[in-house]
Amino acid sequence: MNLQVYKFGGASVKDAAGVRNLAYITSQQTKKGLLIVVSAMGKTTNALETLTKTYLAGEPAEGLLQEIAAYHEHIMLDLFKTTNHPVFNEVANLFVEIEWVIEEEPHSDHDFIYDQIVSIGELVSSRIVHAFLKENGGPVQWVDARSLIQTDNTYREGRPDWNKTEELIQKQLLPVLREGAAVTQGFIGGTTENYTTTLGREGSDYSAAIFASCLGASSMTIWKDVPGVLNADPKLFSETQKYDHLHYSEALEMTYYGATVIHPKTIKPLQNAGIPLFVKPFSAPGEAGTRISNDDQLRSIHPAIIVKKNQVLLSLSARDHSFVTEENLSHIFSLFAKWQVKINIMQMSAISFSLCIDMDEQKFGKLKAGLENNYLLKYNAGLELITVRHFNKELTDALSAGKTVLMEQQSRSTAQFVVKQQD
Ligand code: ASP
Ligand code: MG
Repeated sequence: MNLQVYKFGGASVKDAAGVRNLAYITSQQTKKGLLIVVSAMGKTTNALETLTKTYLAGEPAEGLLQEIAAYHEHIMLDLFKTTNHPVFNEVANLFVEIEWVIEEEPHSDHDFIYDQIVSIGELVSSRIVHAFLKENGGPVQWVDARSLIQTDNTYREGRPDWNKTEELIQKQLLPVLREGAAVTQGFIGGTTENYTTTLGREGSDYSAAIFASCLGASSMTIWKDVPGVLNADPKLFSETQKYDHLHYSEALEMTYYGATVIHPKTIKPLQNAGIPLFVKPFSAPGEAGTRISNDDQLRSIHPAIIVKKNQVLLSLSARDHSFVTEENLSHIFSLFAKWQVKINIMQMSAISFSLCIDMDEQKFGKLKAGLENNYLLKYNAGLELITVRHFNKELTDALSAGKTVLMEQQSRSTAQFVVKQQD
């Protein structure tokens, strides 16, 4: 059987036209063996995040829930024409689960609450997509990802138990796919106690890769609102170039440095299983897009520019102005590990250690307090980290021209600089 995994992000299913286009794209494919993984519709995850924050702050959140429900009802009405369609009930029942949560006083495990609320976005969108495909095509089943992707109970960042997940997918999903297509959710999983977890923001790509890998799929396709993987973000640069092919390692590096086109955890499982990944334009499904695979000849490539905004540059030195020692570094790294703060770039000098991280107000507050106990801390916020893979001097000069460069680093294939944010 030709097993294929198609992933559709929030932008692809943001309205009724998007759902119709999804149906068109999947109709071009033999139904048997096709797994469709969907994200929450449009900006629903952000909206559910706001709702959760509001509720946890002790403020009324019912109005926000009504807005989210109304947005989905509008799409359903467009697709199904009548509120008598059973999908309206299915969706209403899912939103009731949020109502139940927000009627109670919040308890202390905020990450747990977040996952129980935010996961509803994917459950709702998969119900709507499933209902539409069922009416407009061949056999298709709705599948609950929470009973297949088994994670630990690290809420908001659930880590899959690969062995269990593979066993469940082989046992439960494969037989379904032998009969036809299936629709499931990205981004969510379940614990052994049947609680819902999420895999981290933008995690639907990762879900699709877990499914593809555990199924031994012949390919995975991410349908996006761009022509493929581009060498720069079209929102920031007017001239971009599409890669026809990329090696897994190059795609991995690009996502590591902050390219948002694919979730960073997506590539490795596919590379390990040798499953090619296609990134294709949702609006022009006939186009080739980008193929990411193991083909070694694809290594020499056009420079890629990756801009990470909202960075903070920290500079740490010993209180007595002595050298920064290995003991100091070891202590500093342990604090970063403890607060789960990823270091994007770092540099040593005799008396200081500088590093750049993403600004996350909450984590930063804790980290800063921890560091200030032992070190003199200076920092600059509102910066951007520009990374150029396969750089040339002309390009790096052009990118840094007229900007205040606060830190700079070059290796054989990668140039990076931290500058004041432009906008
Ligand atoms: N809906 C989730 C998010 O927006 C997951 C995803 O879209 O990949 O983060
Ligand atoms: Mg998304």
